[in-house]
Amino acid sequence: MAPLEEPTAATLAPPPPHFVIVPLVAQGHTIPMVDLARLLAERGACVSLVTTPMNGARLPGVADQAARAKLALEVVELPFPTGIDGLPPGIENVDQKLAGPLEAYMRGLAARPSCIISDWCNGWTAGVVRSLGIPRLFFHGPPCFYSLCDLNAVDHGLHKQTAAAGDQEKFVVPGMPVRMEVTKATAPGFLNFPGLEAVWIECVEAMRTADGAVVNTFLDLEDQFVTCYEAALGKPVWTLGPFCLVNKDGEAMASRGNKSDVVQQSAVTAWLDMKDTDSVVYVNFGSLVRKPPRLLFEVGHGLEDSGKPFLWVVKEPEVAAPEVREWLEALEARTAGRGLVVRGWVPQLAILSHRAVGGFVTHCGWNSLLESIAHGVPVVTWPHFSDQFLNERLVVDVLGVGVPIGVTAPVMIFDDENMPVGREDVVRAVSALMGGGAEADERRRKAKKYGEKARRAMEKGGSSNDNLTQLIESFRQCAGKEG
Ligand code: UDP
Repeated sequence: MAPLEEPTAATLAPPPPHFVIVPLVAQGHTIPMVDLARLLAERGACVSLVTTPMNGARLPGVADQAARAKLALEVVELPFPTGIDGLPPGIENVDQKLAGPLEAYMRGLAARPSCIISDWCNGWTAGVVRSLGIPRLFFHGPPCFYSLCDLNAVDHGLHKQTAAAGDQEKFVVPGMPVRMEVTKATAPGFLNFPGLEAVWIECVEAMRTADGAVVNTFLDLEDQFVTCYEAALGKPVWTLGPFCLVNKDGEAMASRGNKSDVVQQSAVTAWLDMKDTDSVVYVNFGSLVRKPPRLLFEVGHGLEDSGKPFLWVVKEPEVAAPEVREWLEALEARTAGRGLVVRGWVPQLAILSHRAVGGFVTHCGWNSLLESIAHGVPVVTWPHFSDQFLNERLVVDVLGVGVPIGVTAPVMIFDDENMPVGREDVVRAVSALMGGGAEADERRRKAKKYGEKARRAMEKGGSSNDNLTQLIESFRQCAGKEG
């Protein structure tokens, strides 16, 4: 496709298209959609990011930064119905309850929005926009590799086969351009958990009836899977990523997700500044994973025994117990100078973009993986649940930028007590990632190559940049129609 001229806010013919963005309320879903909102707004579109009052309070700075940059990006806090179905006041994460307020908001606008982009887990938005005649795209968080596996698994009834199988029995996912084997445990199916079947069916149905998909990936990373996914879905797939690269300065990076401790972050940066290039392994398991003490000890001892400089982020609740706190303090004393343990939330992008960080031990959430790839940082893969096992296959087998820790079965969220990972696994994987040698060098070379390609994809003339232009242009025609 010939590169398109990049319109700016000044050259776009008015009125610009209006996108309404409806994230799922969970950090791993909201963070990329906030980035997407900024990407669209920076290219001249009007964007309304929908949330609830309580969750809006967790988006500090989004509206302020947009206002300062003169972007047409507003955060819309929909009233969340309270006192229903026994929900206590203050609980606002049952997104379905937003259907009425979202419809009322859109009906109240002077002009009908051009398009709604909703998280694929918000299948309920399909009903809302159908009655209003507004085009709908779904945002699918994982890479096209995973989405293609997922779609093929549903279409070929893979779940029925795996349900009757033994835990380690292998199945080939049909319709993949590469041979992909899964077990019952690692088979795709994000919401394929007992009790969530009805939600899952609603979401899959909403994907089928949408007008297209928006994915946080880029063509040079997974070209063949994007093509196959688009063909299998039978509708446009807009690859616009890595979204995280919209955050260009320290302030934007620091305001993503939960609030980080500013003083702590300066100390982290000062510590990283003293380290050699590519020497530090960064360890963080995303927003949801909580490690029980037994596994924290294995991670800590493994990092200590690896002999490598490390920056390890633990969550406050993980280290709340006095005996865990004491153990951690002793570890910090033994590894002082070489290791840094941070408690709470860190601005991950700022860390991954620091020249001293040369490896990342990750749970394989797609945001974390793509953020690492976008900054040329190879990974140790330690998947826990949902899409993470297949994301691991993409980065290890297809892209060649990962070392597996060696887990083969998922754990439920907040329950990885029985995960069979020991300190020797951490030592082996971290040493392989951070040590010298041909394999480590090759992995690092590939990661840096993908990092460069990621940047190019987002620049003028790059594939994601062009796709964004086309997306905005294609919905400009719908802009400004009477509601
Ligand atoms: N994140 C962060 N600081 C932290 C932990 C997580 O900024 O201390 C961000 C991370 O950069 C990513 C998101 O939270 O954007 C986590 O999403 P991911 O898909 O990796 O995993 P999930 O949290 O959904 O399991």
